[in-house]
Amino acid sequence: MSDTKKITANHVARAVIPDPGFGREVEEKSRTRVSSCFQCLKCTGGCPVTFAMDIMPHQAIRMVQLGMKDEVLESSTIWVCASCETCTTRCPNDIDIAHLMDTLRQTAIAEKITPAQKEILAFHRVFMMTIRFLGRLYEPGMLGALKAWTRTLNRGEIKLGWKMFKKGKLKIVPRAVGESRELRAIFAKAKQKVKGEGSKVKG
Ligand code: SF4
Ligand code: SF4
Repeated sequence: MSDTKKITANHVARAVIPDPGFGREVEEKSRTRVSSCFQCLKCTGGCPVTFAMDIMPHQAIRMVQLGMKDEVLESSTIWVCASCETCTTRCPNDIDIAHLMDTLRQTAIAEKITPAQKEILAFHRVFMMTIRFLGRLYEPGMLGALKAWTRTLNRGEIKLGWKMFKKGKLKIVPRAVGESRELRAIFAKAKQKVKGEGSKVKG
């Protein structure tokens, strides 16, 4: 294979076409003043999952400020973020970075942007589906659905699952927490809240 053929679309530098309204749009949706970031790096310094990110949290903030919409929404960082809020607590400008990451994830989903690591989005969907129906985690069902969706189930994992089942480590029958009516109401309320966000900007 020639060197030219080895180069994939991801390796080809593309022109950055900034979206000047993106920063403001994100500020409104996340209700946090991204524009006040002065790049002190305290967020990145405290983040426990930077090792798995393709851009650092402070870089994601800078990209939002610069209107680099495609670049930030296509990053795996917004999906790797564990919403631990360490960055939010450390930020001297009270920027709610954890919420901002959540907003960026929602925007990426709404705009049908495929993340750099597709499995992360699949995991996010399966996780939310489990919570929506049961109100709690149900690992066997969640992993089964994830593996089927991403077509990554292998013989070793089936064997391991069987071993765990025989030792009583896997509970096959799921147990729901609360009434499904209540769970539906919580999700409907959250959906409404997301729609309603945008009227005020903190800071
Ligand atoms: S801690 Fe706050 S001000 Fe500092 S780089 Fe991160 S977002 Fe910006
Ligand atoms: S909320 Fe996300 S970005 Fe912030 S420190 Fe935790 S994992 Fe890192």
